[in-house]
Amino acid sequence: MSPLAGPPDPAVSTVLGDVPAVTLGRTNYHEHFFQVSPLLPGDALDDEPRSLVEAVSLRASGFPAVVDATPTGLGRRPEALARLAAASGLHVVATTGAHREPHYGAGHWLLELTEDQLAERFTADVTDGQPAVDGPGRGPRAVGPDGGPVRAAVVKAGIGYWSIGAFEQRVLAAVAATWARTGAAVLVHLEHGSATFEVLATLEVLGVPASAVALAHVDRNPDPGLHAELAAAGAYLGYDGWARSQRWPDSLLLDCLLRAAEQGATERLLLGGDVARATRYRGYGGMPGLAHLGERVLPRLERAASPALVTALLETNPARWLSGTGTTVSTEEQT
Ligand SMILES: [Zn+2]
Repeated sequence: MSPLAGPPDPAVSTVLGDVPAVTLGRTNYHEHFFQVSPLLPGDALDDEPRSLVEAVSLRASGFPAVVDATPTGLGRRPEALARLAAASGLHVVATTGAHREPHYGAGHWLLELTEDQLAERFTADVTDGQPAVDGPGRGPRAVGPDGGPVRAAVVKAGIGYWSIGAFEQRVLAAVAATWARTGAAVLVHLEHGSATFEVLATLEVLGVPASAVALAHVDRNPDPGLHAELAAAGAYLGYDGWARSQRWPDSLLLDCLLRAAEQGATERLLLGGDVARATRYRGYGGMPGLAHLGERVLPRLERAASPALVTALLETNPARWLSGTGTTVSTEEQT
């Protein structure tokens, strides 16, 4: 798939194989079924039956498709993820790339890799499929329940609060190389919604247009004017800070989303939950679980937003982002 021109019938690569983008339906652009990080002690997502409970609950709450946003070296379990997709009936899109540096403990093997080695790994995850074991050695390829590879279709980078460290810069360069080779959808983790335009500028220098990039957690800085400007620049905006009432009520994010849409961001908004912690998963004995988005946020959104906005947010935008259609090179690249 060329990243520069959409094919006539765009497809999205899921952990169970390619599906036409139009069949994804309502898509939660950001959750985690398996994730283990030293930054989240006591919150490991590492139990297949418990994660399956959460997957079933997400699907029942109105989302037939989801991106699992856990990148390399943080407890990814591709074969379990493919089994979970088959058992729950969810379309699951997997992620490669890397998180921001603090998610990897000191001495973690991923931190030692060069830009080229990172790009090679990320690209292979997209083209050949992920290895069965998410470790330093590439080892045998993961096999899905139907015998096929478990490919990633999103390539992720992460940065700090107004800060891009040396490892994170290497990852951004490797993400750009992976995008150029595969057209995988680009996802960038932001801290507190900072450094948005700086990330887009860094990626543009590396050849990646804003129209390929989703900025995760941009709503942690709930500034609708900024969001409208980012959308005008072409970037996708990941709203995923729901159910965090110690920081803000859901109403604040809903208002921000509606105001950003009024200012022209409709075609760039994405919705996710990024619940990400075992203590917040019903399947692990916590709450509110992945169903919060569908059960508590969506009804309010549907009352306040036009049907066209709801369709764009939940269906058209994630399908376009994930299939790479509508991605354009910058003027400088074309000349
Ligand atoms: Zn996340």
